[in-house]
Amino acid sequence: MKKTYAVAIDGPSGAGKSTIARAVAGKFGFMYVDTGAIYRCVGLAALRAGVDKTDPEAVQQLLQSLQIELHHDGAGVQQMILNGENVSGQIRTPEVSLAASDFSALPAVRAFLLDMQRAFARRYSVIMDGRDIGTVVLPDADLKIFLTASSAERARRRFDELTAKGMNVDYETVLREQLARDAQDSGRAVAPLKAAQDAVIVDTTGKTLDESIALVLSVMEERLCL
Ligand code: C5P
Repeated sequence: MKKTYAVAIDGPSGAGKSTIARAVAGKFGFMYVDTGAIYRCVGLAALRAGVDKTDPEAVQQLLQSLQIELHHDGAGVQQMILNGENVSGQIRTPEVSLAASDFSALPAVRAFLLDMQRAFARRYSVIMDGRDIGTVVLPDADLKIFLTASSAERARRRFDELTAKGMNVDYETVLREQLARDAQDSGRAVAPLKAAQDAVIVDTTGKTLDESIALVLSVMEERLCL
């Protein structure tokens, strides 16, 4: 039997990657890695420092000043520590979403985070979610899943998530920002959002969370013979 497994889950924002990946990771005892949260830390740090993304020196300086750590709490929820501060809540705002997308398009930022992501897969069985996990970060993953849903449904889920946290947002704005972010993530030159050629496409449109989790579980059981 193989010692470790690597499962890549990619897809656009709001497809349910994090929730589903966390649930199935818990079931198989794999480590769940939300790579979007790592890019969000860069976005938050850039916003705080007022870094101009078109200034390569300022971006390099920012990257050198960053210490990003990832911990899992007792409930298996990933906590992000940026230069010693737990920023897990702060990285979830719409402003940070856009900044993460802006800065993640820079080759210097992607190169800086690549090894950190790969290091998890060298040590543990992982389920890693992001945009380029199956195509760039873990091209030899044992299983690649591309998780998607209609843009209206993804925006609705994001809207519900933000309003449940007490944020004052409207649906049309959430949809517009999501479409802009997806276009930027898909259209960038380096590591764009796209399904790997050997990915299993899972569409969760019209499915409940439990149904989506069951679908991904069955794909994993079948493909990895778990
Ligand atoms: O997944 P999440 O929406 O939290 O990701 C925030 C942003 O980080 C994405 O819009 C994308 O631009 C970037 N990202 C990326 N590559 C990844 C994960 C996230 O470029 N592997």
